[in-house]
Amino acid sequence: KSRLASVEQAPPDPILGVSEAFKADTSDLKLNLGVGAYRTEELKPLVLNVVKKAERKMIEKDENKEYLPIEGLASFRKATVELLLGADNDAIKEGRIATVQSLSGTGSLRVGAEFIGKFLPGTTAYLSNPTWGNHRNIFADAGVEWKYYSYFDPETVGLDFEGMVKDIREAPEGSVIVLHGCAHNPTGVDPTKDQWKQMADLCIEKNHLPFFDVAYQGFASGSLDEDAYAPRYFASRGIEIMIAQSYSKNLGLYGERVGALNFVLSDKETATRVLSQLKRIARALYSNPPVHGARIVAEVVGNPDMFEEWKEEMQGMAGRIKTVRQELHDHLKEIHPERDWSFILRQIGMFSFTGLTPKQVENMTNKHHIYMTKDGRISLAGLSSAKAGYLAKAMDDSVR
Ligand code: PMP
Repeated sequence: KSRLASVEQAPPDPILGVSEAFKADTSDLKLNLGVGAYRTEELKPLVLNVVKKAERKMIEKDENKEYLPIEGLASFRKATVELLLGADNDAIKEGRIATVQSLSGTGSLRVGAEFIGKFLPGTTAYLSNPTWGNHRNIFADAGVEWKYYSYFDPETVGLDFEGMVKDIREAPEGSVIVLHGCAHNPTGVDPTKDQWKQMADLCIEKNHLPFFDVAYQGFASGSLDEDAYAPRYFASRGIEIMIAQSYSKNLGLYGERVGALNFVLSDKETATRVLSQLKRIARALYSNPPVHGARIVAEVVGNPDMFEEWKEEMQGMAGRIKTVRQELHDHLKEIHPERDWSFILRQIGMFSFTGLTPKQVENMTNKHHIYMTKDGRISLAGLSSAKAGYLAKAMDDSVR
């Protein structure tokens, strides 16, 4: 008998488990709207041209595979923080930022959570309700207690801003507030600029530490600058913030695991010491980050021609998602005009939060072979124009 015989089966991941079920389905009708990964109109994964170009350059330069420093590739770290905050940002000029390259958004969040557990013990992290499912695991596994703040109002299928303000005001002074920088996952509902201002006021009043999760920069509006509005605004108000970045979606580097954790701090001396501790945390977790994806980002962001080309390709992806969003809405409106489907058009980013109940989601999958998460979220990045009508019919059938 194994000494581990009493280990219980872990539940399947609520998002990646959907892909496993999708793979096992043999129907021609099947459609995977579970995971947030971009697909072409032919529903194939896409490697951006700029990425291929950067990779060819790397081969030409005959780059080696030596270890990176613990904090990551210097040219990547420079590029990533400039992309996030703008090259002319005061905090960058004043050297008040601590940046480590880490294992995409997830790894960056985890290093941040470990830091909070170690240096701000007893601090609770507040997560939006609902949020990306992995946030809870990340903070819990790092030993950081988490709680929810109100975020989504199912009645209006919009932001419950009053509830959000109330909960964040009632959180103990100095709490960590996890905020989605743009394109909130799973709801597709973001605060307005005025609401961000009020949020910043509140964080100052309560001395909270905002921790931005920026996994979709460029994917919400199609503009990298516009999508970085919230963290840039908070930094401009002199608030100390943490920011996790991911290049999974906007550069399509999912499997390369490239991202960064940044702390914008009040002074250079603190930034230096925080960086030293981030390195200490990373060293024990994974020693140093992967080099390949970091070189791609450094090349694409650092080269003006390639940067322009990237922006065009990104707008292409964001545009295709907007088109299928509109098409899904139009099909639904045609089939079921008495129902209000306008929320689909108000939501932004890769996802639509459909309001389908777990039972209705079961019907979508079991009867129509459409795979999506139990919370009713669909990834529009996995939908094609050709399949928008089929999806609309299945949704209509499921809500009737
Ligand atoms: N945060 C949010 C809100 C996300 O949706 C995702 C990706 N689904 C991530 C972080 C992290 O993804 P990755 O680790 O691939 O960068």
